[in-house]
Amino acid sequence: MKALLLSKITNILENPTPLQLKEIPSPQPTSGEVLLEVSVCAVCHTELDEIEGRTVPTRLPVIPGHQVVGRVVQTGNQVKLLKTGDRVGVAWIFSACVKCQSCLTGQENLCPDYKATGRDANGGYAEYMCVRESFAYPIPELFSDVEAAPLLCAGAIGYRSLRLSGMQDGKYFGLTGFGGSGHLVLMLAKYLYPNSPVFVFSRTESEREFARSLGADWAGDINEKAPQKLDCILDTTPVWKPVVEALLNLNPGGRLVINAIRKENSDKESLLELDYATHLWMEREIKSVANVTRQDVSEFLDLAARIPIKPEVQEYSLEQANQALVELKTRKIRGAKVLRIASTRN
Ligand SMILES: [Zn+2]
Ligand SMILES: [Zn+2]
Repeated sequence: MKALLLSKITNILENPTPLQLKEIPSPQPTSGEVLLEVSVCAVCHTELDEIEGRTVPTRLPVIPGHQVVGRVVQTGNQVKLLKTGDRVGVAWIFSACVKCQSCLTGQENLCPDYKATGRDANGGYAEYMCVRESFAYPIPELFSDVEAAPLLCAGAIGYRSLRLSGMQDGKYFGLTGFGGSGHLVLMLAKYLYPNSPVFVFSRTESEREFARSLGADWAGDINEKAPQKLDCILDTTPVWKPVVEALLNLNPGGRLVINAIRKENSDKESLLELDYATHLWMEREIKSVANVTRQDVSEFLDLAARIPIKPEVQEYSLEQANQALVELKTRKIRGAKVLRIASTRN
């Protein structure tokens, strides 16, 4: 099969082709696993974190990609839920131990044995991949493959972050950064909290316009002050300055959730501007969000179908994956990026 392999950690701006297209043997499903023919795989900022070593793959070479939509073409022993032909998605959670305290209390995202798709196991930048059937999700019929892929990470983790932010209808909500995840969260927030104004902070005018077109009540630059203080803010940027700026927009008792697996260090000195009295005092909180659970993914897919949320998508071929990653790094194109792998269109 054709697959894109990450073989070494590198800086993508110095080395704009970090993934190599190779012909390798297709994987075989083990007990409890299914083999998927991959149709599409969305591109996530976390792939940049893997390539550049902020979250280092536990195996190299590895096939990245954790927003996979494909069809079951072979089932291993003990497979009971899925059959050949079923369309399913694979998300960032590749597996968890299912028996530790975290797993048993609905927090499998915190499992010490958490394995991430495309980092700790081969992912979807390939023609085929294997996954345990209990970690694959039926895709609601409403969505095409391309529409469904970005929902599996950007959407699911956005949903988890929104829940962790403590949002309730009527509270004032803010979003810093407006890319693949941000635009899905805006649609979600508008549906779940119809009486909550949404404020978007983004450093580019095109993203601010995009936010307004999707229903943002106000959109300004990262360092602007919103017309009023906000109760819950979700940060989807890869850097630090927006975090510091967002805290100035937060109400007493408000919460800022950082939706990023890792932050880049390029502007880390911004943290020195943090002043306890103005940024944090009065019980302002900062909370991180780690990974996703299977429940997050399933619940979000159902919700997205009900609303419905159809992500804005830019398509690339498998061969164009490096280009897509560079464009993600340099923030050239709005919305979500998806690699089309199987030639059949859906
Ligand atoms: Zn992701
Ligand atoms: Zn566990």
